Amino acid sequence: MNIAGAAASADFTKICPLISRRSNLKYAGDSTLTVRVKNVEFGGDRPVIIGGPCSVESVEQTLELAHAVKACGADMLRGGAYKPRTSPHDFQGLGMEGLEILREASLQTGLPIVTEVMDPRLVEQVGEYADMLQIGSRNMQNYPLLTEVGKFGKPVLLKRGMAASLCEWLGAAEYIAKEGNLQIVLCERGIKAYPSGEYSRFILDLNVIPALQAETFLPVIVDPSHATGVASMVEPASRSALEAGCHGLIIEIASDRPGAARPKCDAAQAISPAVLGRIVEFAHSRVGQRLESKACAV
Ligand code: PEP
Ligand code: MN
Repeated sequence: MNIAGAAASADFTKICPLISRRSNLKYAGDSTLTVRVKNVEFGGDRPVIIGGPCSVESVEQTLELAHAVKACGADMLRGGAYKPRTSPHDFQGLGMEGLEILREASLQTGLPIVTEVMDPRLVEQVGEYADMLQIGSRNMQNYPLLTEVGKFGKPVLLKRGMAASLCEWLGAAEYIAKEGNLQIVLCERGIKAYPSGEYSRFILDLNVIPALQAETFLPVIVDPSHATGVASMVEPASRSALEAGCHGLIIEIASDRPGAARPKCDAAQAISPAVLGRIVEFAHSRVGQRLESKACAV
């Protein structure tokens, strides 16, 4: 039976030739493209750990968390200034003010910033502040937005649509690559499946990591915060993702200092800085072993 729009992995070289391992002889083995965000390198043997709040809510909150991320030994700061919320009545982010706060946090800590852009008209504005532009799950197939971030040229963190197939995800990355921007890091953040919402927010699809690595040379990281939606699940999910071979993690944290304000957004999945510190330690302790298992596989 022929089905319009159906695609198999054999079609990937036609759908996404620019990012396909099979159409780029340079990456015919198992090597990964290095994506550089200031002094941070995605795609090497050292996993990149990104930490920070779900949303930028105040100067105090963001500076406290940025310094905590730095003290943990993590590599980059995350935080949304423009938030994609289910209800238009919910907190939408601080916008420009949030971007200014992120800039100050980066100046104080030296951490590069990744922050979400949702609107093609705001790519220049957000891109002036961000070291890496995040495309959120809900916008993975917003093709005008992908084209704009491709043209803008800064590194892009492309989250997987929550119901996206591998083919759709790679097709989205190809839109960015088509504009001449190959500085793309993919991010698995959980998919909607039958039990989503029963015991966890989404289902963390770790199987997609080796599948992606077979098809593309782009680095892939994992977001255990949105994938689980449950703070106590974030640490084991992080360890599992690193074991599955991802090139890094992006994790939401909140202050557990007595008197600290409860986050307006995604409070139930935020871990404390101390737990982030344990995850960073685990990630760094795995570096030698990852190299060893790679050597064994050859
Ligand atoms: C986020 O990282 O802030 C976010 C909204 O994630 P996602 O797009 O994966 O839902
Ligand atoms: Mn969030």
